[in-house]
Amino acid sequence: MEISKCLIIGAGPAGYTAAIYASRANLFPILFEGIQPGGQLTTTSEVENFPGYPEGVSGPTLMDDLRRQALRFGADIKSGSVTEVDFSKRPFEVTVNGADKYYAHTVIIATGASARYLGLPDEQKYMGMGVSACATCDGFFYRGKNVAVVGGGDSACEEALYLSNIAKKVFLIVRKPALRASKVMQQRVLKKENITVLFNCNTLGLFGDEVLEGAKLVENKGTEMEQIFDIAIDGFFLAIGHTPNTQVFGTSLELDSEGYIILKGNTSATSVDGVFAAGDVADPRYQQAISAAGMGCRAALDAEAYLVENDL
Ligand code: NDP
Repeated sequence: MEISKCLIIGAGPAGYTAAIYASRANLFPILFEGIQPGGQLTTTSEVENFPGYPEGVSGPTLMDDLRRQALRFGADIKSGSVTEVDFSKRPFEVTVNGADKYYAHTVIIATGASARYLGLPDEQKYMGMGVSACATCDGFFYRGKNVAVVGGGDSACEEALYLSNIAKKVFLIVRKPALRASKVMQQRVLKKENITVLFNCNTLGLFGDEVLEGAKLVENKGTEMEQIFDIAIDGFFLAIGHTPNTQVFGTSLELDSEGYIILKGNTSATSVDGVFAAGDVADPRYQQAISAAGMGCRAALDAEAYLVENDL
């Protein structure tokens, strides 16, 4: 049986950075890419906030650069989705594509999180042409334009505030009669002159020739006061939360109430010794490419230290 020193699951900034560090430490890591190599950044057009790219870089190019950097130091990058893990065994057993078994002394989980969408067919139609789930990534393209943000939590408020400094006008579409966000965020949003909060509103669809031109909303759905109306917008931002990609880890690891992996103290250690986590899958708060990359570095260093401490 072949046992890897380090097996990395996930191919976003966290996974690739962990692979760069683990390769350079001679851990000969195997990294599984899953169905979306490059992760969420591959659906982003331009990345302008990743240090080291003064002119900006496209999401796919950035991810390809990170991938090639990992390959340069000998990371064994394989395509395949991890479908099962057994962290009760030593070495750990990881099943890929429901069939192939891999064994490893340490595992780094960097499977990321997926932005939630409403599930409207129009979201797919205008993806990258008006629809986005990341104001920090795509807000810049809406300078002086009208945009809408969906959601009533802290993320939605944060996105609306961020966009209000760029766009001409921001509609915040909230399905309930109140915001769920913290009081301070609510106050900031309600005080901002160019943000209009549309309470009790749901999105029925989007429209526009080729690019997005507007959204059809329903207010007070199912009541006597129900009314349907359109808003003219160039951008439609989803901020209705993220789902961490931890389904496959089921009960093997300690997760928080939202499904994010809980880390021990100021480290990348999970509830299972020898299993580490990095990036959005263990970070409900920051969720940035650069913070994920930093976490990937930490996870590789923690894995290396664990191998030394345990003579593996
Ligand atoms: P939340 O789960 O807090 O909020 C999600 C929002 O989306 C809710 O208002 C919810 O509505 C709405 N929503 C969900 N599904 C739909 C739907 N199908 N249609 C319309 N609206 C929908 O997620 P966030 O991403 O905002 O925050 C996640 C966590 O991160 C929170 O704990 C938050 O406090 C934290 N956070 C903290 C920040 C900070 O401190 N600066 C910044 C960002 C996040 P409803 O209220 O009706 O359920």
